[in-house]
Amino acid sequence: MTSSTVLEIDGIYKRYGEQNALEAISLDVARGEFLTLLGPSGSGKSTLLAVLAGFTAPDRGCVYLNGADITHFSPERRRFGVVPQGYGLFPHLTAYENIAFPLRVRRTPRTRIDGRVQEVMELLQIEGLGNRLPMHLSGGQQQRVALARAFSFEPDLLLLDEPMSALDASLRRDLQAELVRLHRQVGTTFIHVTHDQQEALALSDRIVVLNRGRAEQIGSPRTIYDHPASRFVASFLGKNNLLKAIALVGPDGRIQFHWHGHRIAARPGAVPPTAGPCILAVRPENITLDAVRSSASHSDDRIRGKVISRTFLGSSTDIVVAVGDDTLSVTLPATAASPTAAGEDVWLAFDSERCWCLPNGDASPSQFAAISSELAA
Ligand code: ADP
Repeated sequence: MTSSTVLEIDGIYKRYGEQNALEAISLDVARGEFLTLLGPSGSGKSTLLAVLAGFTAPDRGCVYLNGADITHFSPERRRFGVVPQGYGLFPHLTAYENIAFPLRVRRTPRTRIDGRVQEVMELLQIEGLGNRLPMHLSGGQQQRVALARAFSFEPDLLLLDEPMSALDASLRRDLQAELVRLHRQVGTTFIHVTHDQQEALALSDRIVVLNRGRAEQIGSPRTIYDHPASRFVASFLGKNNLLKAIALVGPDGRIQFHWHGHRIAARPGAVPPTAGPCILAVRPENITLDAVRSSASHSDDRIRGKVISRTFLGSSTDIVVAVGDDTLSVTLPATAASPTAAGEDVWLAFDSERCWCLPNGDASPSQFAAISSELAA
């Protein structure tokens, strides 16, 4: 724990029958941070949020707020704002009364309630909607009322459970921008749950990637995208080509990755701890293509393949290329002059600065030995 830590999560375990919902979750949340819990359905995101909110007790482990153990505090004692899935607005109360509710529960003096409700309505830009019942508000407006209600009592921390899941794509983008603005303006610590990787990348200071109740990686969006710690993270966040490669020390003493007889220089930091089989993770946008007919020269760092298909996606074009028994996805910007058509032979080049290596590939030891002796010769 450092002086900027607001919340410390220490070794949390939670089981439901035989199911491990959370396993050994430990992390520190910094004051004012926007932290996202990201994972597929069933990975433990909601359970972890429920443990933090005080709705669910962990089987083991502790939660500390500003250094004090709050593991067994009731939700009310925690002073956390919560935006639940589906917003949980009271249908029989107006927007104003929904927002005032947490203040009334906390016995805030009547004279202060009105001022504070007006303040948060202004903050969320929903002045004028105070008299409406939730059923007379759009999805986006309901979300703003839910946020205003969660902010009304100036919480130490805001917990958001899939706040955008009920909204359509364009409204989601508007509200993502709105959440970023709010976070900057109020400076409160946000802990946000989503299964949407784009949303996590767009909003967060740091992301916790959950898989089967375990935190597979914790880091900034850039780190998690560029340097995934596991096969799961590499393929869950965006697209990745995961290639069975072999890491070897080349004649110049530096590590090279070998794949289909081609050599890719490893950049420092992307090197596995030992030479041997590995998984080379190459994002589709980090591969370039060149038609074989238009360029005669061959070099070791280019790979020959055959275009199987191309799909126009508006801002980009997806191209699938076969190399031996493998297929690769390549994404080109729509503006790039694309020299390729299905059936055509192409040279592929990987951006070696952006190739990333995961340990424990399953290339066979005999393949490794054959390439090693070829290099030594
Ligand atoms: P997520 O929010 O990532 O979809 P959850 O935290 O809801 O995941 O669930 C994690 C695991 O725990 C799942 O396998 C789920 O089926 C199980 N689980 C969650 N809540 C309960 C519960 N109340 N009773 C039994 N199993 C549960």
